[in-house]
Amino acid sequence: MNNLHSIQRMRRLRKTEKMRDLFQETHLSLNDLCLPIFVEEGLDDYKQIDSMPGVVRIPEKRLAYEIERIAKAGIKSVMTFGVSHHLDETGSDAWQENGLVARMSRICKETVPEMIVMSDTCFCEYTSHGHCGVMHGDIVDNDATIHNLGLQAVAAARAGADFIAPSAAMDGQVAAIRQALDAAGFKDTAIMSYSTKFASALYGPI
Ligand SMILES: [Zn+2]
Repeated sequence: MNNLHSIQRMRRLRKTEKMRDLFQETHLSLNDLCLPIFVEEGLDDYKQIDSMPGVVRIPEKRLAYEIERIAKAGIKSVMTFGVSHHLDETGSDAWQENGLVARMSRICKETVPEMIVMSDTCFCEYTSHGHCGVMHGDIVDNDATIHNLGLQAVAAARAGADFIAPSAAMDGQVAAIRQALDAAGFKDTAIMSYSTKFASALYGPI
């Protein structure tokens, strides 16, 4: 056997539990976790999401109750996904002051002010055609969409969202959102790009 093949012996430092404790670099706790929640307006009862066994759509009227439960479980951060019943060509409900995006953030922050709220920022649950932005025929209008993403981000920030979490996959969306937030006075509202969300294995089902 060529010794060069076994110069690295990482197994030596994994021999016992105490040894592993000493060298462990990554520690996972509730501090590292964010709970995605799916909130549907006009819903009477919880609704199973078939592609994610055990995960349900929360009726909007139960959101306050659920946020309290989530906080009591020690979870400090949620990401809000809305399922709108007010669809149009551009997904304009998403940037209304009293639209679903804004209401979700407002309900979360009013119920548990210290809860970190990350607002998923896209249009596919708000457009009548189900695409993530403005369409001209078969073509998505990237620049009209990033302008609208800015509007949605400001509405969410105004309603108390701590993070804007864009998932529309439009070119230049983070820069456009940053500009819109800064211009509206929300310089301290953070942005978490989709690439960061995607880096989590827990995001797989979505
Ligand atoms: Zn989308």
